Amino acid sequence: MVIALGAGYAETCKSGSGGGSSETAGESQYGAAGSTSHLMQCTSKSYPVSFVVTDPKGGIVCETGKLLQKHQYRIKIFNSINFKKSMHYNPFAYVHSETDILKLVTTLIANTRGDGKGGDPFWEKAETLLYTALIGYIHYEAPVEEQNFSTLIEDKAVTIKIGEGQPDWSPSNEYKHFKGYMTVSEALQRSTNMIPVQLIQMLTPRACWNFLHDTLNIQSLSESDIAYSPMTLGALTNGVTPLDMAAAYQMYANGGMRTQPYCYTRVLDSRGNVVLENRPAPQRVLDYDTVTVMNHLLQRIVNAAPGTGLNANLADLGIEVAGKTGTTDDGVDEWFVGVTPYYVGVCWVGYDDQFQRDEEGNLLYDAYGKKIPNTVYYTQYPPPLLWKEVMHQVHEGLEPKAFEGSSSVIALRYCTLTGYAATPECPNSIMGWYKNENIPSACPYCTGVNPDVPIVGQKTPPPGTEVEDEDKEDDDDDDDDDD
Ligand SMILES: [Zn+2]
Repeated sequence: MVIALGAGYAETCKSGSGGGSSETAGESQYGAAGSTSHLMQCTSKSYPVSFVVTDPKGGIVCETGKLLQKHQYRIKIFNSINFKKSMHYNPFAYVHSETDILKLVTTLIANTRGDGKGGDPFWEKAETLLYTALIGYIHYEAPVEEQNFSTLIEDKAVTIKIGEGQPDWSPSNEYKHFKGYMTVSEALQRSTNMIPVQLIQMLTPRACWNFLHDTLNIQSLSESDIAYSPMTLGALTNGVTPLDMAAAYQMYANGGMRTQPYCYTRVLDSRGNVVLENRPAPQRVLDYDTVTVMNHLLQRIVNAAPGTGLNANLADLGIEVAGKTGTTDDGVDEWFVGVTPYYVGVCWVGYDDQFQRDEEGNLLYDAYGKKIPNTVYYTQYPPPLLWKEVMHQVHEGLEPKAFEGSSSVIALRYCTLTGYAATPECPNSIMGWYKNENIPSACPYCTGVNPDVPIVGQKTPPPGTEVEDEDKEDDDDDDDDDD
């Protein structure tokens, strides 16, 4: 049996603690003098609590706590006056959508209103708005991660040997410099190139090609795409169709299931008999936990700076969006794929002909003998904007909806300096999402256990240099760029 108590904690017994009264619960059964405490019996199976008691003056826990514990009751305390004295109750664990935020705010206000203060509705509305904004900010700034995605990998120059007689491959970033160590999550959010290059080195281009070609059924891939550049940065021989892209991304909204796209459900004859019927057969392509983590990561691209898909947010409709942008060299192709709990939408911007031609149709070359690409450069990256133009209308009138996810995925805050699990010593932390077997250990840097672990932004000095000064241009880390 578990009893949850509101404000008040054993330590406050001597000094007492102020607090408002609750207007929400049922009859008072533990009338601590002068307070208006309430007792609720809880029957919900999802909240394993037998009784919920509000304890505005912090008196009940002092008077009865030890006795109840002696009789095998377990007591959990949520102290809304002094959170440090709470028993690690995290309301954000229960916040999944805008509606949850409003519920939380209403509850907070109702339970901290205080005696007798009828209050001006203006201030109550203002208070609600402020709390909603604050909690929304924390909720949306926080989410996301895996294997885990708060692992640090260095954004640095990488040179890959391609093979006999072929030049080495040295890819660069859209933002033309290297940012040093960053989490995999941030790399995804920023669409950094150097991190996927290193991940594909670990996975091998062949394994990635097999997954795309055999599992996700992207049949436009050719054998020549089994190489670093096509597999990491998407410079594919024949490209990918938006339909294949949509089919591939549906797994992030369908809990890891993929259905081959189809364009009809049923064909009837004039008498209404079924002539043809399509029976989609979804297949599992990724495990539910992995997809849940990935979904959180992809939501971040649309929800939080420096995400590259912020313009595709549908927060005003209360509908979650997970997405990914993609750009090929010179801005020849610009992509955005966005999934919601209802639909997948893909936007590609580019020219039918990738290269510029003269009036006779002959290819044009620059001074170095290179074909001149047809590029799509705008001051704002267009695909998320276009996606929203269409998808906002498609979703209007639909119920607000959040993604479902695997309940075995664990939400845990991680240190933004190291990517390890946050400790009280860490100056900053954000929410990460982890598979059970990939939980990071406590931050060794901020606790002083190991001051030598890499930290975000740190750069490995190039071989032969002693001073940490890799490239003067790198000092500009304004973080406002790239897609
Ligand atoms: Zn730390």
